[in-house]
Amino acid sequence: MEQISVFDILKVGIGPSSSHTLGPWRAAGRFLSTLREKELFEKVDRVSVTLYGSLSLTGRGHYTDLAVILGLCGADPEVIPPEDIRPMVSYIEQSGCMTLGGERDITFCPLQDIVFEKTFLPFHSNGITFVASDKDGKELDSETYYSIGGGFVVQEGEMPHVGEGVDVKKFPYPIQKADELLSYTKREKCSIADVVLENEKTIRSVPEIREKLLGIWDVMLQSIYTGCHTLGELPGGLRVKRRAAYVYGRIKPYLIYNDHREWARELRHVQADAKNVFTWVSTFAIAVNEVNASLGRIVTAPTNGSSGVIPAVLLYYLSFVNPKATDDHIIEYLLVCGEIGSIFKKEATISAAQGGCQAEIGVSSAMAAAGLCHLMGGLPQQCLAAAEITMEHHLGLTCDPVGGLVQVPCIERNSMGAIKAITAAGWALNNDPSVPVVSLDSVIKTMWETALDMNTKYKETALGGLAAQVPVNHPDC
Ligand code: SF4
Repeated sequence: MEQISVFDILKVGIGPSSSHTLGPWRAAGRFLSTLREKELFEKVDRVSVTLYGSLSLTGRGHYTDLAVILGLCGADPEVIPPEDIRPMVSYIEQSGCMTLGGERDITFCPLQDIVFEKTFLPFHSNGITFVASDKDGKELDSETYYSIGGGFVVQEGEMPHVGEGVDVKKFPYPIQKADELLSYTKREKCSIADVVLENEKTIRSVPEIREKLLGIWDVMLQSIYTGCHTLGELPGGLRVKRRAAYVYGRIKPYLIYNDHREWARELRHVQADAKNVFTWVSTFAIAVNEVNASLGRIVTAPTNGSSGVIPAVLLYYLSFVNPKATDDHIIEYLLVCGEIGSIFKKEATISAAQGGCQAEIGVSSAMAAAGLCHLMGGLPQQCLAAAEITMEHHLGLTCDPVGGLVQVPCIERNSMGAIKAITAAGWALNNDPSVPVVSLDSVIKTMWETALDMNTKYKETALGGLAAQVPVNHPDC
């Protein structure tokens, strides 16, 4: 049974896409590690990369080529300053030279050494092959990886990488399905967050878990703050205007603050009326995804394209539902969100290239709904019902990013996901939890079957839906 840590679902990364940016970045990092393990690293004189299927079709709009370059340079997506990315890549493009793994200068011409191959590999639609050769042009090694969504990377037949140091046998509550999670909570008479924490405790100490989760929240909050305070146009050629800062400028109250933390504390004093509370939530969600679209730092939750939903719902709760909330509330919310996301990943997919946007926005919205329901006092069965209701109303949602960029419809879709999560949490709290007509497991199964039936053009190819109706001349294409 696949065991996934909360920290595998909620990861700090760089936009705009977990499967097309973060995954390929990590795949390049894995290729470097393999070269080192095989003691070939010192002999490498050239590396070539082939992007297959969806990575090829929407790779330019998702900056897959740029991510591969950064990964081969040994850059860490969790810590690289976003403002360093463009200059680093421009230097490599102009000089035709990169520092492999941050250690050895090799010839690298992105236009020649990164090939966009539209054919699909049979194992997964996001295939990527790296080939390393020596100075005589002799092939030293060739590896193929697959970016399977949410930043997870596998080789054919391999289980996804799970959290560092995870010993799967030690998880006291192994969970594959929502029903199993529910039965543990009934048996132990505890909440979903309690069960998830017990599993996480086999990987890290409680203080480490708390610190890491609060660190995740800090990055989420920073991305909302940055988005709410940055005007201008998004990169990529669609000329999409940033709207979060514009809307925030219209609704903002008089506040004095120095940074994102102080801002969030001040927001707790804002009295949002029913008329504009959804404007606030939408603005929070859109803010994150504008940061994501501009190669900024966000938390993959469970993907980059859907990274605005979970932070927006949590800031809504902290600002307008329970201004007295503590760190415990933040931690419990993220634990619940993470577990719901991992069940979707195990039983269906969190990859738009496999399941369309229902697998991204649908899953993030379901995660947030369960987390919010928990914070609002919902029983475990109500939290699962909240996730179920949310996914029920995302079934069949296709992925059709205009121009292959994670902007239209992606950015607005996060605000819709956040609002659906809030609505679903409310419904779940008002429903009789003992008689769900549809279980979370059934809706996850339905989502997977819908994914299998979905036409390939609606799976992150930019060949169908809005992407086909709104032709653009992408400047990078
Ligand atoms: S349409 Fe949805 S799944 Fe596709 S790139 Fe945009 S947010 Fe991601």
